[in-house]
Amino acid sequence: MPFRATILTLYPEMFPGPLGISLAGRALERGEAIVETRQIRDFGRGRHRAVDDTPAGGGAGMVLRADVLADAIDAASPDGDTRPRLLMSPRGRPLSQNFVRELAAGEGALIVCGRFEGVDERIIEARGLTEISIGDYVLSGGEIAAMVLLDAVIRLLPGVMGNDQSGVHESFETRLLEHPHYTRPAEWEGRTIPEVLTSGNHGAVERWRRAEAERLTLERRPDLLAPPVRGPGASDR
Ligand code: SAH
Repeated sequence: MPFRATILTLYPEMFPGPLGISLAGRALERGEAIVETRQIRDFGRGRHRAVDDTPAGGGAGMVLRADVLADAIDAASPDGDTRPRLLMSPRGRPLSQNFVRELAAGEGALIVCGRFEGVDERIIEARGLTEISIGDYVLSGGEIAAMVLLDAVIRLLPGVMGNDQSGVHESFETRLLEHPHYTRPAEWEGRTIPEVLTSGNHGAVERWRRAEAERLTLERRPDLLAPPVRGPGASDR
């Protein structure tokens, strides 16, 4: 069974978007992954198919209605659908390569994309949504966040990356940032390639890459080297 993502959105025309090209595009074409959309507005209320309303307590913006979202979720994910249900949200658990790997090992996901001020809080518990954030900034909607998540997942699906080894040393897979890369020409604008990489000594190349990965991680992301913090609120990597 291919990985199947069902996206609940007010803008289904945004999909597959960038997921339709290159690596992810080929995976979709070959049926290694399925990305399908459901229009939340189809479940809107009244003649105007309203999906949102003003926030209780007042304030700016609009909030996606719990009843509308519930109908959309129930139609897209009937009883027996065991896929995780995600809500893209800046308040969510930070998206990590660990979580991406977990998802890629599963059957797929149902992904709710928020808009406006977000969703009525009651839907989150009532339909068991896991909130996922792609970073500490605010987007105008969950669609691009969902694409980020799916792009990261799809490239890990079996058969998607041509060279199965190419994922092994990558940033975050080893709790280290990746070492630098070089390719031809050997000299460019007076800049050369580190000699060890053209030495043919595979052991030395491995040691150099490892040392560079450690150096870069220490310099840029020492937090990745710190022992993992466990407990409530701990973010995984
Ligand atoms: N008022 C909200 C922001 C709403 S942004 C707040 O301050 O928390 C509108 C929608 O965009 C959200 O419902 C969510 O689905 C999506 N979104 C915005 N930023 C995001 C992020 N960093 N990660 C994931 N989804 C995000």
